[in-house]
Amino acid sequence: MHHQNHFDLVIVGGGTAGTFSAIAAAREGLSTAVIEKNSYLGGMATGSGLTEMNAAGFRESPLYKGIEKEIFDEMIAEGFAEYHFAVPMSSNKEVKIDRLRYNPEMLKILLETKATESGVTLFYQAELDSAEENEDGCIVHARSLYETFTLTSDYLIDATGNADLIRKLGCETIKTQADKQLVSTLMFRLSNVDLTKLDAFIHSEELGKIIQEGYEAGILKGKILAFTPIPGTKDVSLNVTRAKFDYEDIRGASMGLAEARRQILPVYHFVQKRVPGMEASYIANIASVIGVRDGRRIQGQYMLTLDDLEQMTNFEDSIACGCYPMDIHDPVTNSVIWKVLPGVYHIPYRSLLPKGLHRTLAAGKCLGAEKKAFAAIRVMPIMMNVGESAGYAVALAKCEKKKLDELTAASLSQCLTDKYSR
Ligand SMILES: Cc1cc2nc3c(=O)[nH]c(=O)nc-3n(C[C@H](O)[C@H](O)[C@H](O)COP(=O)(O)OP(=O)(O)OC[C@H]3O[C@@H](n4cnc5c(N)ncnc54)[C@H](O)[C@@H]3O)c2cc1C
Repeated sequence: MHHQNHFDLVIVGGGTAGTFSAIAAAREGLSTAVIEKNSYLGGMATGSGLTEMNAAGFRESPLYKGIEKEIFDEMIAEGFAEYHFAVPMSSNKEVKIDRLRYNPEMLKILLETKATESGVTLFYQAELDSAEENEDGCIVHARSLYETFTLTSDYLIDATGNADLIRKLGCETIKTQADKQLVSTLMFRLSNVDLTKLDAFIHSEELGKIIQEGYEAGILKGKILAFTPIPGTKDVSLNVTRAKFDYEDIRGASMGLAEARRQILPVYHFVQKRVPGMEASYIANIASVIGVRDGRRIQGQYMLTLDDLEQMTNFEDSIACGCYPMDIHDPVTNSVIWKVLPGVYHIPYRSLLPKGLHRTLAAGKCLGAEKKAFAAIRVMPIMMNVGESAGYAVALAKCEKKKLDELTAASLSQCLTDKYSR
């Protein structure tokens, strides 16, 4: 059997952003491959126990569009997702945001179906080894458990969430000092919850008191106890464990993961006793992937700042938008530092262009942003929007026979207007 080894576009990382890049590019007619180290698509959105798209809308009006809208609408219609307006955050009830709650297993199925139906070639359980970007094209060396393989392409997208590809292409990346990195969380799910009782509790003043009690007793390691009901089930996902480690130090990261898992049982006993609705609950799942909030980012042609978000700078090469507040899971105070932003802000294409490269884009949370801006834009609906637009940008470059840094803001903007208004 002949295996295709050359693609218009190779994407490393089939997570939250990479999957949307892949579907968008493949639907535009590009031969597209995804190299993904997990055995499913969706990354954090499907594998880390997350069940809530943060700031999926702004003041009761959904912000999602394009493929994101297609997928969310299908999930809502099937009862696998629900839009909730102005939900308070457990770590600060004054901060209220619109959220789309969803069933991650259904999202997993949908993403894979859409990708394969669009013609995307999947390389699951495969990891990037090394890569090159040359004048005429790119080369990617990867490996699975059983073989090494090489793909060539006209363009590359780094959607690894930690700029792994761009780093291996020899470019400078930015990493936050280990003791200042955002805290990581291992999510887990409780089943058989009385959701009516829990919902009343989440909206009451009691939640804050219980968080304080649990924190003082040393059961909660941070001032957060976030419950997210999963639509169509009696399950609730918990964002509560806290682990501090340098994500690139394998020993520290492994111990951090074990420490986060160790926190689960005491938390479970605590909420079962203290939180209404949890009396008959049981632990149904512990996420297979720990959620690492921090990550390497590229040195982009433009570095997005918190000021840009506060000013809602309307870049002429805007490719995505969002409204999530700055949300820093602080390793020093063990609390969440919030800064609510005034409205809908934009992300420019130039922040996806790594300095020194011409055929590679960064999509997802490794794009070029300063630390405080990163702490706002990193949420899933924004990353999906960024990913999808990156896919369209590559298709436009292919069509115009250009390198990625040769696209003009005007033609990109026209292209995105066309794609999103279909
Ligand atoms: C604990 C935690 C809680 C969060 N809570 C929320 C929330 O409630 N709501 C919300 O909207 N957002 C939340 N976020 C933010 C959001 O989940 C992420 O920032 C977003 O999903 C990042 O998308 P991404 O595509 O950049 O990365 P990911 O989704 O992580 O995708 C990266 C993909 O690349 C793959 N990969 C990495 N390296 C390689 C390699 N070398 N070779 C092959 N594959 C590779 C990974 O397996 C993964 O599938 C949370 C994040 C964390 C960590």
